[in-house]
Amino acid sequence: MILTKAEQLELTKEEMQDYGNAVVNSIVEHFDTQNEKYPVATASRKEMDTLFLEDAPEKPTDAREVLDFVLQKVMTQSNVVSHPKSYSFVPGPSNFISAMGDALASGFNIFSGGWAASPAAAEMEIVTMNWLLKMYGFPVKRGGGIFTSGGSMANLTAIATARKVKCGDDFSKAVIYLSDQAHSSNIKAIRVLGFRKEQIRIIPTDGEFKVAVNKLKNAIAKDKIEGLQPFCFIASAGTTNTGTVDPLNELATICKKEKIWLHIDAAYGGAAILAKNGKQLLAGIEKADSITVDPHKWFYQPYEIGCLLVRNHKWLKGTFTEKPEYLRDIEGNESEINFYDHGIELTRRFRALKFYMSIKTFGLKAFRKAIDYNIKLAENTEEYLRKSNTWEVVSPATLAIINFRYHPISGKLSEKQLDKINQKISEKVVASREALLVTTILNGQVVLRMCLINPRTSMEDIKSTLQLCEHYANE
Ligand SMILES: *Cc1c(COP(=O)(O)O)cnc(C)c1O
Repeated sequence: MILTKAEQLELTKEEMQDYGNAVVNSIVEHFDTQNEKYPVATASRKEMDTLFLEDAPEKPTDAREVLDFVLQKVMTQSNVVSHPKSYSFVPGPSNFISAMGDALASGFNIFSGGWAASPAAAEMEIVTMNWLLKMYGFPVKRGGGIFTSGGSMANLTAIATARKVKCGDDFSKAVIYLSDQAHSSNIKAIRVLGFRKEQIRIIPTDGEFKVAVNKLKNAIAKDKIEGLQPFCFIASAGTTNTGTVDPLNELATICKKEKIWLHIDAAYGGAAILAKNGKQLLAGIEKADSITVDPHKWFYQPYEIGCLLVRNHKWLKGTFTEKPEYLRDIEGNESEINFYDHGIELTRRFRALKFYMSIKTFGLKAFRKAIDYNIKLAENTEEYLRKSNTWEVVSPATLAIINFRYHPISGKLSEKQLDKINQKISEKVVASREALLVTTILNGQVVLRMCLINPRTSMEDIKSTLQLCEHYANE
């Protein structure tokens, strides 16, 4: 039996060139016009079903026809998370070089699991990991790390490693600690790893949303008296809600004394290490046993790339190495790292490439400037809000995040009314599609939250969004 070209899933060279050019042109067009698009897409399941629902087609369709359909109907029905007025959750400003890096990684379909399959890809991950280790003051030679799909997978990898190093195979008495502001992915990871509810301690935070250190100390002491094994504390360096950094130095001292693994979840705030006062903002981060950072957030990378750093690379190897017979021939020597031995995934995409290419192309200095700009932008926004009679700052500008609410000094509005108005403002702004601005809850109050990590967001963007908010508040 001989397959036709199409049955080999191939195109002619000319067809590929045409098709590839059309794809690249559409991405270029998107980058060129993204600031003018609507940041918000809203569609119901019913609308989407009407557009897309069909059985898998046996018959082919013209390639350009499928592409045009996708460009017109699919790519337009998502939030533009790289939009300057996309303020909510954690925006994804991205950058063109890294997007093209991802295209190369997919285009060449590079297997980034083991040294033998792709020495350069493994080396690229070693090199970029060294850059990160150095940034965070981790030992470059002894330290190690791995790129993951995102922060959630990095946290899962971290907790699995902490457990293996601290508890070995019996974790029946192990207890893990995290604050009530820690990211939900940590609890998810703890559950995935099979811990029971009784093995988890949620420690309250203080008025500034930092973990209450004394309450942590008490919890550890109580658990020890009961014969349990405190083994890990998850600190936050940049909580997702408010950008708050836990008192890392103090926590490191406690963890060292109690022989507890200190994991720092810096998925959101980690990039602040590149700010002018980054060492101050994240003081103590270098004392962690492991750190999660998330380059697809504030390092301006497109999805997906997260990262786990560990103080000793052997911890990863000791946790994740299995030696199945079918991988026997490619084990290689010690210095030639097989990243499938350092994490959960065997087959892995070449994530280091985009990170490498964008930093090489723009230089770290550009990243430093952009991150400084973002921090300053949030501070300027705070100053602007404090001068007004209608806005109340609920949590000050911290690592480019600010929380505030509509609360005119003249009006006599109850807490309940304020909650309702701020909820309504957000709903109306989102419905207008002009900005993505949703609420969060702080101290039981409904507040608006801006996460300002897009280097293309201007003070004008923010002022016009606030004006829009005031307009809806008056309605
Ligand atoms: C975003 C975030 C995560 C999860 O990262 P993903 O890349 O979304 O999986 C974990 N921790 C914190 C603090 C975060 O902000």
